[in-house]
Amino acid sequence: MSERDLDALLEDCTQCGLCREVCIVEALGAHSITSLLCGEEQYSSWLCSSCWRCQEVCPQGVDIHAIIMEMRREEEPPPGHEANLVNVLRSGYALPVDSGVNSSRILHSLEPVQLIPAKWLEILLQGREGGKTRG
Ligand code: SF4
Ligand code: SF4
Repeated sequence: MSERDLDALLEDCTQCGLCREVCIVEALGAHSITSLLCGEEQYSSWLCSSCWRCQEVCPQGVDIHAIIMEMRREEEPPPGHEANLVNVLRSGYALPVDSGVNSSRILHSLEPVQLIPAKWLEILLQGREGGKTRG
């Protein structure tokens, strides 16, 4: 995203702070995109539960969702994100599915989770720029 595009998205923001007041990431003591919107330098666009309370309360109708998604293209994802992506591609779940998970599922009369073949995973991962996860 160019600086000009980001400027356009931020144009109507008055830095009133309402988004930060309702943000659960901020309530937990970390810094979400709402800190950036309030002029702070410490924040991460990846620290977010996607509750969109910030979006709902914004009196200016700032498209915070668009800002978060665009900022994620610029920022390195946190450690562990890559592993989660691989897990989702393999099984549809972010947490790893091992034989213990499937034994437990069978015990509860659930179908075992099917993992996609390693070759398919390789093909799915090939499209990523420089092998990096993109937001
Ligand atoms: S609530 Fe809207 S106007 Fe207020 S700081 Fe957040 S984005 Fe800016
Ligand atoms: S969507 Fe993300 S940034 Fe917005 S209030 Fe929820 S956790 Fe905070």
